[in-house]
Amino acid sequence: MKLLEDKIKKEGKVLEGGILKVDGFLNHRLDVALIRELGSDIGREFRESGASLILTVESSGIAIAFAAGESLGLPVLVAKKHKSHNISDGVYTAPVFSFTHKTENNVVVSREYLGAGDRVLIVDDFLASGNAAMGLLSIIEQAGATAVGFVAAIEKEEQGGRALIEGKGIKVYSLARIKEMRAGEIKFN
Ligand code: 5GP
Repeated sequence: MKLLEDKIKKEGKVLEGGILKVDGFLNHRLDVALIRELGSDIGREFRESGASLILTVESSGIAIAFAAGESLGLPVLVAKKHKSHNISDGVYTAPVFSFTHKTENNVVVSREYLGAGDRVLIVDDFLASGNAAMGLLSIIEQAGATAVGFVAAIEKEEQGGRALIEGKGIKVYSLARIKEMRAGEIKFN
C-alpha cells in the first residue's frame, strides 16, 4: 500500500537489531487518518472471508485491529500479555517470545469470547519472525476455531515469519512488505 510505504520512507527509522521505529504514526502517536485507510484496505481484502471476529494482541496491534473491525463490522478481541505463569482457569494461553523486548510472555484470551464457531482474522502491526502469529494461532486451535487469515501492517520479509504461517495453510496479507532495510535505506517488495 503506497500510502503506508511513503509514510515509512519518510518517518520510519531503522534501529539496531532489525527493528523499525514507526511510533510517530503507528503505535505510540497514532495517525488516525492513515490507520483508518489501513482498516479500509484490510476490509476490502477480507470482505468475503466470512470472518466473524478479529484477534489482535496488546498493545500495538489494537489501533489497526480496531480500524479493520470498523471496516468489516466485526468485534475485536485483544489477547492480553501476562508475565505470570499463574494463569487462571477459563482462558486459552500460549507462550510468545517478544522480538522487540527479548522476553517471553503468555498471551491470554478468555474462553468466554472465543469459541469453536468463530472464523478469526488475526491483525497485528508487524510480522517479523512469526512468534506472535504462532501464539495467536495456537489460541485459535485451542478454541477449535478457524483462522481465515493473518494481516500485518508491516512485514519484514527477511525474518521469515510468512513461511511459518503459510505452512499452516493460512493466508498472509501485509500492507507494506519490506524486502530489506538498514539505516537510511528501506527496500519494499
Ligand atoms: P514476531 O513475533 O513476528 O517476531 O514479531 C511481531 C511482534 O513484534 C509485533 O507484534 C510487534 O509488536 C513486534 N515487532 C516486531 N518487529 C518490530 C519492529 O521492527 N518494530 C516494532 N516497533 N515492533 C516490532
